[in-house]
Amino acid sequence: VWNSCLQIIKDNIPAQSFKTWFEPIKALRMEGSVLTIQVPSLFFYEWLEEHYVGLLRKTIKKQLGDEGRLEYNIVVEQSSSPKPYTTNMPSNGNGAEAKHQSMPIPISINKDIKNPFVIPGLKKLNVDPQLNRNYTFESFVEGDCNRLARSAGYAVAAKPGGTSFNPLMIYGGVGLGKTHLAQAIGNEIKRTLPDKLVLYVSCEKFTQQFVDALKHNNINDFVNFYQAIDVLIMDDVHNFAGKEKTQDFFFHIFNHLHQSGKQLIITSDKAPKDLAGLEERLLSRFKWGLSADLQVPDLETRMAILKNKIYQDGIELSNEVVEYVAHNIDNNVRELEGAMVSLLAQSTLNRKEIDLNLAKQMLKNFVKNSAKEISMEYIQSLVCEYFEVPIEMVKSQTRKREIVQARQISMYLAKAHTKSSLKSIGHFFGGRDHSTVIYACQTVEDLIDTDKKFKGYVADIQKKLKMS
Ligand code: ADP
Ligand code: MG
Repeated sequence: VWNSCLQIIKDNIPAQSFKTWFEPIKALRMEGSVLTIQVPSLFFYEWLEEHYVGLLRKTIKKQLGDEGRLEYNIVVEQSSSPKPYTTNMPSNGNGAEAKHQSMPIPISINKDIKNPFVIPGLKKLNVDPQLNRNYTFESFVEGDCNRLARSAGYAVAAKPGGTSFNPLMIYGGVGLGKTHLAQAIGNEIKRTLPDKLVLYVSCEKFTQQFVDALKHNNINDFVNFYQAIDVLIMDDVHNFAGKEKTQDFFFHIFNHLHQSGKQLIITSDKAPKDLAGLEERLLSRFKWGLSADLQVPDLETRMAILKNKIYQDGIELSNEVVEYVAHNIDNNVRELEGAMVSLLAQSTLNRKEIDLNLAKQMLKNFVKNSAKEISMEYIQSLVCEYFEVPIEMVKSQTRKREIVQARQISMYLAKAHTKSSLKSIGHFFGGRDHSTVIYACQTVEDLIDTDKKFKGYVADIQKKLKMS
């Protein structure tokens, strides 16, 4: 029976989804009108319920009639601990000692069942937290610009999962210390509670792992690994914009961790309410805990940061020079540090002492923004990365919606940001003629006017373009 169900399902959903979510299912038995299937994890079950309940219901009805029911049997990982997760995951396996826990769930009511299972104590494994050891609270200079975020971070580090700051969302502009602070929390937890499984991961890396897991059919290992984490630090969630599949997935991981009292720490370049391109339900989760922002440090804090750095690196620098640098580089800490490093390099190279004159000379070069030209290749790669579409597809003849969208946005941006003619833009993007480019630009402009989400996507990509 299940095989004929699978046939129906296969015809109704994309091949990739079928492979990921239906192939790992085993049919266990058929008793009366109840079909029992086995799914590899609770996560799996919830995913099926959320995404495929309608299809499953219809299929069961078709095959078994109105009486037909589906029951799930969920494999609970017991003594076997999740495997350490890398992008090259070991091939799929259900864990030799997995215990089968019978969980009859009539498909008609299971929307209401919320996490009725307790997963028996997973043996702790060692996970490399992926933290930079230099990013500590000690090296994170306090100032008005970061006081709230810093003390919230401290509170979280003292009691991960045990404060109302869950998730803790740290937001602020580029180079203002989000990664540093988030990792400081992780390092502090590792120092005081070494048994806690802490993991730092950037949104890009998570996306990559997810894509790889799909490709290699390893979703189950991926899920098990993430569910075992006690403190998850997810950096730069604004990069989830446009990546709907990954976001959806992260949403589920988030829920699981949060429900089990695990700590989540999230960073982003904007406040939750201003994050374009993220799903509302994910944003609403981000608002559950505390959002604290990092602002541009004032002069005093900038000087303190520089002095701290100088002290740590064992360099001598006159107050005058420190003040000069702090005064002139006032938008972000990364640049402040960058200026310092160049200053040191110059002084070593020229065997000159770092005096005010050298600082002045150097800063002139440092501040000057050399405007680079943007290429169509670059636009193409940015757009493709943003929408998670393979780069070679954009130049192909395919008319798949997401590819067409990526192609049209690329053309639009090429027209707006390069000096290329319509003809050469068309030529570059798969040998199309200039009227296609005009049409693409028109379509994008119309969508920007009428579709808020779309407008957010384009604005996001444009921002990335300008930052480079
Ligand atoms: P973001 O993740 O917000 O872009 P980072 O955390 O990467 O910024 O910070 C950029 C650099 O500035 C890092 O080297 C970090 O150590 C340093 N930095 C930022 N804020 C502070 C601070 N308050 N004290 C000391 N160093 C800081
Ligand atoms: Mg960062």
